[in-house]
Amino acid sequence: MTDFLHDLNEVQRNAVSATEGPVMVLAGAGSGKTRVITYRIAYLISNEGVSPNNILALTFTNKAAGEMRHRVDTLLHAGSSSGLWIGTFHSIFARLLRTYIHLIGYDRNFSIFDSDDSKSLIRQAMTELNISQDSVPVNTIQSLISRAKNGFILPAEFHRNAGDYNQQKAAQVYELYTRKLKENNALDFDDLLIKPIELFNEHPEVLEELQDAFRYIMIDEYQDTNKAQYLVAKMLGARHRNIFVVGDDAQSIYSWRGADISNILNFQDDYHDALTFKLVENYRSTGNILKAANSIISRNQRQIKKELISHRSEGDPLTLLEAYNERNEAEKVGDHIRSMRMKQGYEFRSFAVFYRTNAQSRVLEDVMRQSRIPYRIFGSVSFYKRREIKDAVAYLRFILNERDSESLLRIINFPPRKIGDVSIGKLKDFAEREGVSLYEAIRKAEEGGFQARLVTALTSFSTVIESLKEIAENGTVYNVLSELFTLTSIPLLLQAENTPESLARHENLQELLSMARDFSDHNPDAGSLGDFLENISLASDYEETQDSDNYVSLMTVHAAKGLEFPVVFVTGLEERLFPLHGQEPEELEEERRLFYVAVTRAQEKIFLSWAQSRYHYGQPQHCLKSVFISEIDSSIVQTEGGVFLSDRPLRDAPVSTAPSFSRGYPQKQTAPVATQSSSFDKPKASRSGLRSGISVHHAVFGPGTVLDVQGTGAKQKVRISFRSAGEKTLMVQYANLKIQ
Ligand code: ATP
Ligand code: MG
Repeated sequence: MTDFLHDLNEVQRNAVSATEGPVMVLAGAGSGKTRVITYRIAYLISNEGVSPNNILALTFTNKAAGEMRHRVDTLLHAGSSSGLWIGTFHSIFARLLRTYIHLIGYDRNFSIFDSDDSKSLIRQAMTELNISQDSVPVNTIQSLISRAKNGFILPAEFHRNAGDYNQQKAAQVYELYTRKLKENNALDFDDLLIKPIELFNEHPEVLEELQDAFRYIMIDEYQDTNKAQYLVAKMLGARHRNIFVVGDDAQSIYSWRGADISNILNFQDDYHDALTFKLVENYRSTGNILKAANSIISRNQRQIKKELISHRSEGDPLTLLEAYNERNEAEKVGDHIRSMRMKQGYEFRSFAVFYRTNAQSRVLEDVMRQSRIPYRIFGSVSFYKRREIKDAVAYLRFILNERDSESLLRIINFPPRKIGDVSIGKLKDFAEREGVSLYEAIRKAEEGGFQARLVTALTSFSTVIESLKEIAENGTVYNVLSELFTLTSIPLLLQAENTPESLARHENLQELLSMARDFSDHNPDAGSLGDFLENISLASDYEETQDSDNYVSLMTVHAAKGLEFPVVFVTGLEERLFPLHGQEPEELEEERRLFYVAVTRAQEKIFLSWAQSRYHYGQPQHCLKSVFISEIDSSIVQTEGGVFLSDRPLRDAPVSTAPSFSRGYPQKQTAPVATQSSSFDKPKASRSGLRSGISVHHAVFGPGTVLDVQGTGAKQKVRISFRSAGEKTLMVQYANLKIQ
């Protein structure tokens, strides 16, 4: 019956069979913590005869919940998992609240407000309280409220402790917003965690009923639980005390979202009789990957020292890909995916590409599309589908075609100009009466008999559009976009909101600006706005046209927690990008934990990459290699490429003449080569990729350094100082040089 226990090592088996009382498994990545939870569920059902209805397992993502359920079915028999309570905190408590919420004054058919719904309610509350969005942005208030809720700080307490101006305003809004949610019979996401606590406090009989029901509680990724999650789990487990948590303090990466690492560190204070198990064998990664991971995390001061030994062979060394810019980096990633697929039989689904910030997905996505590599973005939507990108693109579309009323309606109140639905209705009527387009009506707003405030708002909008149209006539796409940002202050507003979400959106817009710059620099006559938009439309369509379930996974490192892939690329390993924050030691340590999470996702092969130059806010910036790279023992790292691809003799390298972006989908892409794709590199590099100072290898003369390059094309010569053969001048065409 319990044959499956043979799939576990002894400590894992002990953890699985220690079913009674509080238990904690504190262990490093890939040591089988999640596996232990899964097996424990199967064990409880098959060995202890526990009904699935009495088991509650809380996972970090819905995907993990699905996998766990599936695995239980495989370990026992199909259907065994039915009746189990497996899911994220949010999904489980949403389900419970449907049964009990009437007891605290809501209807059972309550709505769950997503972030946008909740924002609009907060906005209403602010208007009623006369709090102008100019003084505190709505997102700041939303974020403060959410943070409070995750810390289980209710309005009254928040009010008492409100310090600065923003907090005081947020406290007022929090109170009204809470009332409004109730009036709407709605809960926001955070309520899904705190309403159960309220329910249990007010109705102990419900708590008792659930305590009885959930005889066995298991929580994965316990290091990233927040206060509200901690409290609710503690309440539910108080009766049977069969609470089983697994986690790894070295993988705590959500402190910015309110996760509280002390939950795991204090487990034994909460439960004095807790049993603890330490798993030390890593089953996931090769020896070299693990060695790298261990040496990374050992630099952190704040950590519980954990041993982690590899169960697998040493494997390949890590590969460090050095690129001259982000496009080149993405091309190298694409190249390796293609070549490992062709030569080593890997499937697309074996690969994952990680990045630190969401905005980095843009170049990777572009290159994947051009290389015809199917991909999916995990934990987010693809770059061109992000709201702020669609907003900015709507401006560009409208500038090109002022009859595009869909775009017009999207941007008329973005950024907020206080032009509400009623005003738009009036505007439409006016346009109809006059027999003109909506935009024409805006331009003639003074004749429309509107309120002065509306006329001012409409006129300032049309002034922006008119000046952008003028720039579009003579300037580049880059000029238009940067002027758009200046005139509307959209990026500034996002920056001022200063929440993780608004900053990510800000980054995305900057990435769009970088893309426009790249496009303008690399297209004949700087490329037209129409071409630019066409590229974007084709790109946004791409995801819909991929129907296979065999694809490369692209995601931020945060989204990768708990997952594993045969081959992993960790990109953008540059100072101030990864680590993104690092001024304070605690920040640097959290970044390092994030890097540890990234590296430990890999099973067989890991590539680390960085680029010497990367567009930042539309300007190419020189980048420095991340300090994290130097924290890995160099004997297990193989560097590839220097600034150029090294494995291709130059003579054979087809030189791309087409600008990189205009090559875009659906045209076929030429092989990625040693070519320059950023204006930044242009003056320095010759078309063959040779330039003074770089290292090359000649089949006969061995290694050397380029002194200078003369001429072009077939007559191009290169003068090289060879380490042992001295100085030589060679015809590039015949020299068959390899760039190191
Ligand atoms: P993370 O900290 O990244 O969440 P984890 O500790 O939860 O990692 P798991 O995902 O449970 O680790 O396990 C890592 C991999 O090792 C999985 O593929 C799992 O199936 C495998 N594994 C774990 N224990 C064993 C074992 N005893 N025998 C064989 N494979 C195992
Ligand atoms: Mg896990």
